[in-house]
Amino acid sequence: MAERASTLSLVTCTSCGKPIPPGTGSTKFLCPNCGEIQIRRCVKCRKFGRSYKCPKCGFVGP
Ligand SMILES: [Zn+2]
Ligand SMILES: [Zn+2]
Repeated sequence: MAERASTLSLVTCTSCGKPIPPGTGSTKFLCPNCGEIQIRRCVKCRKFGRSYKCPKCGFVGP
């Protein structure tokens, strides 16, 4: 398989780390603690209420 260039901004879920296809009802918001990192969660993680962890400040939240 050829490596995919990162020109296509494929976002990944902050909770599960899987790529999020556009238009799937995923959500994104800034980290409530540091406000610098954009947290993204896929539909499944929203549905199951999985926790996420901010890669910058280490904040863990639902
Ligand atoms: Zn996810
Ligand atoms: Zn943070």
